[in-house]
Amino acid sequence: QRAERQRSTQQPQGLSHAGNLLTRSLNNGQQSLLRSKEAKPPSASSRRSVTPTSRSHSRDFEDDNDPGRVRVAVRLRPRNAEDLLSDADFADCVELQPELKRLKLRKNNWSSESYKFDEVLTETASQKRVYEVVAKPVVESVLGGYNGTVMAYGQTGTGKTFTLGRLGKDDASERGIMVRALEDIMANITIASDTVEVSYLQLYMESIQDLLAPEKTNIPINEDPKTGEVSLPGAVTVKVRDLDHFLELLQIGEANRHAANTKLNTESSRSHAILMVYIRRSVPEKVEVDISSQEKKTKSNLPVVRKSKLLIVDLAGSERLDKSGSEGLLLEEAKFINLSLTSLGKCINALAENCPHIPTRDSKLTRLLRDSFGGSARTSLIITIGPSSRHHAETTSTIMFGQRAMKIVNMVKLKEEFDYESLCRKLETQVDHLTAEIDRQHKLRERDKYDLEKQLRECQDSFYETRKNLVTRSEFLEKENARLELDMEDILAQLNCQKDHNSLMQDKVAELEINLEQSKQHQLENSTYQKVLADTTQIYENKIAELIKQLEVERAQSESAEEQFDAMKKLSGDHQKLIKMYEKKIRELTKQVEDEHTRFEGVQDQLDLANKLLRDYQNSMQEQEEISELRLKLQEMYQLHESTVNELQALKAEFKDQIQEKETISEELYVVREKLSAEEKRRKTIEHELVKLKKSAPEGDKDFERIKDHI
Ligand code: ADP
Ligand code: MG
Repeated sequence: QRAERQRSTQQPQGLSHAGNLLTRSLNNGQQSLLRSKEAKPPSASSRRSVTPTSRSHSRDFEDDNDPGRVRVAVRLRPRNAEDLLSDADFADCVELQPELKRLKLRKNNWSSESYKFDEVLTETASQKRVYEVVAKPVVESVLGGYNGTVMAYGQTGTGKTFTLGRLGKDDASERGIMVRALEDIMANITIASDTVEVSYLQLYMESIQDLLAPEKTNIPINEDPKTGEVSLPGAVTVKVRDLDHFLELLQIGEANRHAANTKLNTESSRSHAILMVYIRRSVPEKVEVDISSQEKKTKSNLPVVRKSKLLIVDLAGSERLDKSGSEGLLLEEAKFINLSLTSLGKCINALAENCPHIPTRDSKLTRLLRDSFGGSARTSLIITIGPSSRHHAETTSTIMFGQRAMKIVNMVKLKEEFDYESLCRKLETQVDHLTAEIDRQHKLRERDKYDLEKQLRECQDSFYETRKNLVTRSEFLEKENARLELDMEDILAQLNCQKDHNSLMQDKVAELEINLEQSKQHQLENSTYQKVLADTTQIYENKIAELIKQLEVERAQSESAEEQFDAMKKLSGDHQKLIKMYEKKIRELTKQVEDEHTRFEGVQDQLDLANKLLRDYQNSMQEQEEISELRLKLQEMYQLHESTVNELQALKAEFKDQIQEKETISEELYVVREKLSAEEKRRKTIEHELVKLKKSAPEGDKDFERIKDHI
């Protein structure tokens, strides 16, 4: 036991020494992103390790608020049966002071060393509490867009897997950091816009195996030369639907890990298990970006995404290989098995010492954890220790590893980038839209072109028409012009004629003037003639007076004839009346005659009847008397008839006379009318003659009118 204790006390010094040796051989020109909180010379740590009494190193962690510093918590596993059995006579090698966040490491019976940590978790600390103090800040940071790492370091059997990978299927309170972290993440993302993907890998003998797709081994690490971003494009990434899905994945991973280790005839404690959680979140705030086209600039909202990565690393046991029962292995092989862990120790040393060169490229683990230590990630390290003094050296080595890691300060960086995928989709939609618009515009332009061509054709037609019209018109105008020229010539000729005529007229005027002079002389001569005319007029007047007298006589005659005519008219009217009266009388007499005739016929019938009766009475004497009586009556009636016929004949003769008289008067009347019309004719002739006379003596008009009026 003493020998083991001696070895274990040398272990941290050995690691530290190896790190220091490596650090000294660093390339001084290489730049590092990392900053050591406190670059302490190696002598300080060596001096500390030999300090006999426990000492506080609180000055190491003055700035606890620096978010970039690697947080380190120490967790003590409860004693297990083996511990209880083997360490029954010994006290624990560590003493925890959780309220002071300190750990006292017993060096020997009389001295101990005290170390401060960010968190000191006793054997009774719950899984929940461990998650909250160790991992939760990192998870929150990852949800905020930063990379984060939670890593467990410690000797095999101290509870790394218990702390990180416990599924807690039967008892949720036993769930480890991996499950709790995913639970937290799934509860905080928006399923519609954010995504969570996981890869689960194992690193053994510098070979990366996919625990979700075990056929994939020796997966290469890809490092972006520009950003330094490390990725494993060969590894399977599974999009996590929910926590149950994730638990399934973890289980599959564990099963595959176990199968792989059996196949390789190794133990899981020799391999590193790495859970990678990729989170992609859309940021609500949007940045305006100019998408420049040739001339116009359009503003477009470019969505921003935050991509972050959480690494949960369950490291291989930190104990020396000979201790973990690998005696059969060759030394080189053994070194190779844990090359990654050794390399990590070197890097942590280099970082803690603020060395300019960090040997991250020496192993795959350090390459994968490049961002976690000295990079841009927020890192929490939990170191697990057991209470047993048997493992004092490993415990001390683990504590020293944690102490060095605490000095590392990362440059925490937010990783935001434009969501080019969604921008691309957006632009594709825009392009589709614009293409459709262009097509539409093209069609419109085609239609416009067709319309314009049609208009052009119409314009050309109308132009030809107009030109034709113009030619016709110009021809017509030319003709008109020629005609007008001719007209002008004619008018000119006419004007010349007029001019000649004017001169002729002037001559005539002169001639008329002479004539006027002559007529004045003639006037004088006329006055002589007027005298003669006055005499002639006197003669005519006398003649007219005679004619008027004659006319008066004629008129008197005419008046007497008219009177005679009126008397005749009256007489004729009387005759007419008389005739009408006679006609009436004749009608009456005729009627009387007709009546008498009828009566006569009746009498004749009676006579015939009487004759018949007479003939009948001839046979008897008595009847003869009656016949003579009837004969007398018949004679009387016959006489009466005779007188009536005579009277009628007399009236007829009188009527005849009257008619004859009427005819005579009518003839007389006709003669008088003839006479009157002859007189009228004569009068008109005289009047005509008078008018003639008046015309033949114009100068005596007034006198004539006067005479006429007088007449
Ligand atoms: P490692 O992964 O570091 O090799 P494990 O996580 O496998 O160690 O732990 C070894 C054993 O110790 C397991 O049986 C585990 O249940 C137990 N154990 C570890 N830590 C605790 C703890 N804090 N409380 C109770 N049991 C623990
Ligand atoms: Mg384990």
